[in-house]
Order: sequence, then structure tokens, then C-alpha cells
Amino acid sequence: MDRLMQDPHSAMVRSRLAPTPSGYLHLGNAWNFGLTWLLTRRAGGRLRLRIDDLDAPRVRPEYLEDIFRTLEWLGLDWDEGPGGPEDHRRHFSQQNRHARYRELLQALGPRLFACRCSRREIQAASRDGQYPGTCRELGLPLGGPGTALRVRTEAVTITWDDGWLGPQAVALEASMRDPVLWRKDDIPAYQIATLADDLDHGINLVVRGADLLDSTAIQRWLAREIGAGRFLEAQFFHHPLLKGPDGAKLSKSAGSYSLQAWRAEGRTAAEVWQQLARALGWAGPVGSLQDLLAAPIALPPAGDHAHWPGGA
Ligand SMILES: [Zn+2]
Repeated sequence: MDRLMQDPHSAMVRSRLAPTPSGYLHLGNAWNFGLTWLLTRRAGGRLRLRIDDLDAPRVRPEYLEDIFRTLEWLGLDWDEGPGGPEDHRRHFSQQNRHARYRELLQALGPRLFACRCSRREIQAASRDGQYPGTCRELGLPLGGPGTALRVRTEAVTITWDDGWLGPQAVALEASMRDPVLWRKDDIPAYQIATLADDLDHGINLVVRGADLLDSTAIQRWLAREIGAGRFLEAQFFHHPLLKGPDGAKLSKSAGSYSLQAWRAEGRTAAEVWQQLARALGWAGPVGSLQDLLAAPIALPPAGDHAHWPGGA
């Protein structure tokens, strides 16, 4: 039985596909999109395309183009968001939303502090791989040149009932102490932008890889700190990651898993969805994403995830 129940009295399910145009999409991205699409469509919900192009120096036009081409090839549709690269740049780019991200940041008030540490200094002073708190009490001016903005975290445990993994409890300071929310190069950090976007778009279903459990914990804590309680009612599904034959996480440059390469070889999207279906324990015929929607597949899959390649 699905963990995501459709309740006619509750608000409509709203989720998002959130690719980053800093590399070509790979099979792992497609599986995440497919799962997000399936969970949303099954619940009769609305799906948004939100392209995470915050990190401007790493964004390239060909990667942005690749997102639209790949989604079309995969047969994925969405209800809100950009229809193409130009529409994205003009109307949806996160680079045009810095004022909004700054507003959310300011809601954290005295929890913010400026940090002038270099990555090397942090590494040298840290005992646990986390920020050692060097600048916490220095009272450096906020927004001064060469400084990042961090948020002062606290020793709390963040809990939620995950749709895929079940009950979760993350010790905040052991997973992410005093994260950077505004970078030294004057770019908002992923955590604050993602939270602002999810709040503004009314997202109440987040489907992401299990490598983002720490991010979910910090975003839930931030939401509580700024009084955005409705974000805490969102459903989270953290699925296992698709891994390469060596057991390592796929990267943007994952050669044989690059969907761009698959298209160039004349392979079809049906193959992508067949592989996902097998990973979900479904052995029936699959020619398209619509076939997956019609198939009696439990999400998350029942029993152990033995079919998930390299998955946990
Ligand atoms: Zn510092």
C-alpha cells in the first residue's frame, strides 16, 4: 500500500522536478523524476518543473537545453514552470529571486553570523568534519566583503516519518552544523533557495535521493525557525540512489549513464522505465511511463530492495 494516501479533504498534492543545469542528466536523475512523477500523478497532484540554476558560474546553456530535451525524450510532463530555456531564463530563473531568498534569510535574525573562514581553515580546526564555530561569537559585520553568512544551529534532533524510509531522526549538529546560507561570492546557498521555492510554490511532496537526508533535516529546522510550519507537514520520500557498478554515486559526468549518450545511440526511454520498473520489483511489460502508472507497483517497493542496483 502506498504511504502517500489521497485524502479528498486535504490540500492537493504538489511536487516538483528539480534538475540542476550544471551537467548532462544521467539515469539516476531520470529515476528520481520518474518516481516523483508517479507519486504525484497517482495522487492526482500537480507537478512543477523547477530548475535549480542558482550556482550561476556552473550553469551552461547546453545543460539547460539538455533538461528540456531529456524530459521530452522521457515522456515526462509537468503542469507548472518553464516551457523552454528562454522562458526559464526570463520568468523562472532562481538568479532573479535573490531578493526573496534574502528576505527569508533575514527572518532568521540573530541566528545569522558572518564567517570569514576559508575551507582549509575549517578543515584544520574541525574535529568532526563540521564547522568548528570559529566565527560564531566574533560579531563580524553581516554582509562584509569576503564573508559568508551562516546560521547558528542548535543541538536538536529533527524527526519525520519518511514515505520511503519510515521514521527518521537526524541529530542536527552532527549532520550539518552552522551551514552557509549565503556564500562569499554573494550567491544564496542551496538550502535557503530550495526552502523559499518550496514554500512559495506550495510544495507538499518532496521526492529526493537518500543522500539528501541531512538537507531535509536542516530545511525542516529552518522552516520551524522562520515560522513556516506548513513545510513541516510536507511528505518526504528519500529513495535509494542508483549507483554505478563500482558502488559509487553517479555523477553528472557518469559516462555510460548519461542520457544524452543514450539518445545519441538511438536507445529509447522505454529502456529507462523498464529498468526502473525492475528496480521496483515489477516484471511486467513497460513501454512508457504511462505503463508504470498503470502497473500495480507499491511505492516504496514491498520487502527488501533487492532489485535496486547498488541501493541500500
Ligand atoms: Zn568562520
